[in-house]
Amino acid sequence: MSNVADLVAPLRLAAVHRAYKTEAGELAVLTGADLVLSGGEIVALVAPSGTGKSTLLHLAGLLERPDAGEVYVEGRAAGSLTDNDRTAIRRTTIGFVYQFHHLLPEFTAEENVVLPQMAAGTSRKAASERARELLTSFGLGERFGHRPGKLSGGEQQRVAIARALANRPRILLADEPTGNLDTATAAKVFAELLGAVRGQGVAALVATHNPELAAMMDRKVTLRDGKLVAG
Ligand code: ADP
Ligand code: MG
Repeated sequence: MSNVADLVAPLRLAAVHRAYKTEAGELAVLTGADLVLSGGEIVALVAPSGTGKSTLLHLAGLLERPDAGEVYVEGRAAGSLTDNDRTAIRRTTIGFVYQFHHLLPEFTAEENVVLPQMAAGTSRKAASERARELLTSFGLGERFGHRPGKLSGGEQQRVAIARALANRPRILLADEPTGNLDTATAAKVFAELLGAVRGQGVAALVATHNPELAAMMDRKVTLRDGKLVAG
């Protein structure tokens, strides 16, 4: 560890390994991935399909555990934490945006942004105010009461981004967040995502295939033979 600040960075991966068992044998996807995501830094993860971007983001988001190595969130080794503690960190410290919005279809846009806040102990009233403020900032001031099925793809993804930011996370992980949108909408939603992340000082790791979107971020990393290298 070269830098003391790295020890308490929002996110640090140290020699992370992950392999999957397949019919053809073991598939080693991550073979010692290292990364420091500093406070407020926005990093693009640009690598071809099938190289392990989603695997890496799921490990960083504490949705899975590495086979070896460690994920540190604000200096805490996540691997030695209980499932309850990992869930609490996911709720309060990490926001996650998927390629497909994964909103709850039977709830309104506002409710989708309110629910994770209430799960984290925020009052209904405060959660609702925060949800409306966020949705308004994403141009959805007229859409609070719409269910996801009544929203366009771009609007759905904006709600998903608002939801990920609702609990004021210090880390945002996004897995090809505009990959399902047409080019023009993707560029707009992506710029709004980065604007919100920068505005709130959130550190972000964003997987994308698109070099133009990647160029909007602070730096690029890529996956090579299961390791992260400067892109
Ligand atoms: P990317 O997001 O860069 O497309 P993934 O992390 O989804 O890559 O996948 C990396 C590799 O691991 C791919 O070859 C994929 O088929 C394989 N893989 C991903 N998840 C599983 C799993 N649960 N079981 C077996 N193989 C998997
Ligand atoms: Mg993927």
